[in-house]
Amino acid sequence: KQDTQAIQALDSAHFIHPFTDHGDLATRGARVITHADGIYVWDSEGNKILDGMSGLWCVNAGYGRKELADAAYQQLMTLPFYNSFFQTTNVPAVQLAAKLAALAPKVGDRSFNHVFFSSSGSESNDTNVRMARRYWDLLGQSQRKVIISRHNAYHGSTMAGASLGGMSGMHAQGDLPIPNITHIDQPYYFENARGGESKADFGLRAARWLEEKILEIGPEKVAAFIAEPVQGAGGVIIPPETYWPEIQRIVDQYGILLICDEVICAFGRLGHWFAYEKFGIKPDLVTFAKGVTSGYIPLGGVMVGNRVAEVLIDKGGEFNHGYTYSGHPVACAVGLANLNLMERENLPGRVRTETGPYLATQFEALKDHPLVGDAETCGFVAGLVLVKDKANKQMFDPDRAVGMICRGHCFRNGLIMRAVGDRMIIAPPLSMTVAQIDEMMGLIRRCLDATLAD
Ligand code: PLP
Repeated sequence: KQDTQAIQALDSAHFIHPFTDHGDLATRGARVITHADGIYVWDSEGNKILDGMSGLWCVNAGYGRKELADAAYQQLMTLPFYNSFFQTTNVPAVQLAAKLAALAPKVGDRSFNHVFFSSSGSESNDTNVRMARRYWDLLGQSQRKVIISRHNAYHGSTMAGASLGGMSGMHAQGDLPIPNITHIDQPYYFENARGGESKADFGLRAARWLEEKILEIGPEKVAAFIAEPVQGAGGVIIPPETYWPEIQRIVDQYGILLICDEVICAFGRLGHWFAYEKFGIKPDLVTFAKGVTSGYIPLGGVMVGNRVAEVLIDKGGEFNHGYTYSGHPVACAVGLANLNLMERENLPGRVRTETGPYLATQFEALKDHPLVGDAETCGFVAGLVLVKDKANKQMFDPDRAVGMICRGHCFRNGLIMRAVGDRMIIAPPLSMTVAQIDEMMGLIRRCLDATLAD
């Protein structure tokens, strides 16, 4: 107890947290997480908590993997750092780039043989903006600057990342978006479909918002469209099956680049190494981070498809862009060890054929709960929406913050579940077993019941 309070006092005195109201923090104190193993974390009060969010969508292989720590230690002792600027390289970065290229499936005429490394998803999306614009410059079409994204998207917290993101709260702070970034609506069937509209029809209509936006701007000015295959932080928004094929038709028709942000969706989260494969999307650039190291160490990057690589690398000369930690040897060594581990344990395959389908049946069954207006999964991400009146799809008054009430019950019952408004979402470690899914579902039901009783 003593320790917890001392840490909390130091915390509120000195540590500015991301996405945190510090007034709340000062009164209630931060929860101090001290250690972790498998799918559980422990706090400084000794509470064991099932981590339904894999840290922050990243601990794909689960906690306590000694071989990742060993890989870091070995590399720290061999070469803790060297840069990859000015014609130098290092072995783990080369090996990881080759491994990622081998794991990235070819789709149609798109292949991925090149990787640009950063330390995060945000930096990687900044890189995407620069690469997309550079690509068009090199092709003599420098007027193509506009990047289209989606409302309620999250693509990071740097100036370009937060601008690509469609979160109005983020835009309001810091005079965003930066110029030449614009947004269309997200394909959220539950909220945006018209009465009686089928999922398939809604998916087509939602995709065509992109075409309308391109025509409004002028196709000759559009550089790229960026989107997550399944929107994560926006609330696990799973698009109808018709959505991505129609998006692909539109980007192909107008010749614009397609950027898939797979910071959450890659590395088995949706049952594939890369989620574009699941949806048959043909991206030109693919953002990754988080799961590439299972979050054990910061690492991100961009998979650069052949269309961009042929211009940028083969004809482009020097690309004036890079980070000190691009291709950091220790981060890359951990990434390599993590991908090898995930491959050996077939974690993406298990999510695709075993644990993912099982989670889906469990979420389907949740629809019988009086609070649950809808529930859906895609691989190992899942979302449910809390409603006041199921029959009429009537939501609660947002001021009641029912999602936050539910999240509080989860915490108290030993489960981390995230609230996005009144959508409750999970993204558990891919190492989770069927028995552990049962344990998690039991906790979710208990928390829903407690929320209902409130
Ligand atoms: N893109 C997506 C889809 C994300 O979910 C996130 C983080 O949650 C980011 C980008 C930003 O990544 P990072 O926090 O590593 O900068």
